[in-house]
Amino acid sequence: MSFQNTLQYAQELDQADTLKDFRNLFHIPVHEGKQQIYMCGNSLGLQPKSVRQCLDNELDKWQNLGVEGWFEGEDNWIGYLKHLKKPLAKIVGAKPSEVSVMNNLTVNLHLMMVSFYQPTETRFKILCEGGAFPSDQYALETHLEFRGINPEEAIIEIFPREGELTLRTEDILQKIEENKDSLALVMMGGINYYSGQVFDMKLITEKAQEMGAKVGFDLAHCVGNILLQLHDWNVDFAVWCSYKYLNSGMGGVSGIFVHENHHQSNLQRLAGWWGYEEKTRFKMEKGFVPMNGADGWQLSTPTILAMACHRAALEITEKAGIENLREKSIKLTGFLRFILEEFNQKNEQILNIITPTNPDESGCQLSILVEKNGKELFDKLIKKGIIGDWREPNVIRLSPVPLYNSFEDVFRVGEALD
Ligand SMILES: *Cc1c(COP(=O)(O)O)cnc(C)c1O
Repeated sequence: MSFQNTLQYAQELDQADTLKDFRNLFHIPVHEGKQQIYMCGNSLGLQPKSVRQCLDNELDKWQNLGVEGWFEGEDNWIGYLKHLKKPLAKIVGAKPSEVSVMNNLTVNLHLMMVSFYQPTETRFKILCEGGAFPSDQYALETHLEFRGINPEEAIIEIFPREGELTLRTEDILQKIEENKDSLALVMMGGINYYSGQVFDMKLITEKAQEMGAKVGFDLAHCVGNILLQLHDWNVDFAVWCSYKYLNSGMGGVSGIFVHENHHQSNLQRLAGWWGYEEKTRFKMEKGFVPMNGADGWQLSTPTILAMACHRAALEITEKAGIENLREKSIKLTGFLRFILEEFNQKNEQILNIITPTNPDESGCQLSILVEKNGKELFDKLIKKGIIGDWREPNVIRLSPVPLYNSFEDVFRVGEALD
């Protein structure tokens, strides 16, 4: 793809963009009287304007109906989950029965590991990417300790080769092969939060299952960003959060995927009443009988207010279409890369973009390693209204999001850098 570094060119791309009007559905924060150049959807997606109405609807029901809100009318709370399952299934490439919505991401990671990590004397290892998101690292470490297994012995971290900054698929596959007799689970991010690298989830799943291991992915940085086919890839389980590219609000409710293959199995799980067989749940009988599908992993009464934010946001993603969003995203992030490279040519290559160039290996986010004075550069960008985020020790993350960022936004990043 060839681009030009002019405002006019960027504006022409915006004019031709069939998704350009979706930006108007979001509140864009203002900096010194001007809209921010918000490139932080990898951390917290912006607020859809429709969220307030959607929340109000539930507050009204609560105000006017009290407990009857659970059952009254078409849009009752007891059936609220159905508004989320269909759009989510489309976004992650699953059947509706394979997805559910509950809790928060790290909690769900533990719950899924209760079911899918079944160590034996010889097969007890977990493979993950080195430098995984801290919460995932702490979850793995403490989960293993809880089971009486030494994390030092059980966790295999895989790092880039000497002198390289991202992982090679062949090295991941080889690591799986090397541990074929002891590997119980592959549990990695679908996209590494630091480098922005997308892993080949299909190949990793195939290889790990061939070796007799289960496979789960943390899709925090994937959902609403790249195209996923969890069902067809035969992934065993996945977890994600809704507040990054799904724009569903701070600490918003999380999602899980459990492959159909496991719906009839008697996997161990930690249960609560909301995962109980729906028809007889309110008989309140002894002995847990799970609902069929991913819903059987629910524990608690659903958090309707968080789900209302999620519903409003998902409607927008559904309307835009995940394929259309991805198509624009490749172009938008490609344009950002071009703009950064233009800057680099004039400035001794001070920005080292570590996110892979191949669109199959990257999503919205570009991770920019700045060897010297990175934090200073980042702070200056913030002062100019360019909102990315900083990850220690030396990376600036910028994520143009196809739902609400424009090509002009990207051009303005180059202008501010200059
Ligand atoms: C954002 C993120 C989390 C956050 O987990 P919470 O439980 O929602 O706080 C976890 N893992 C990864 C990979 C993330 O990117």
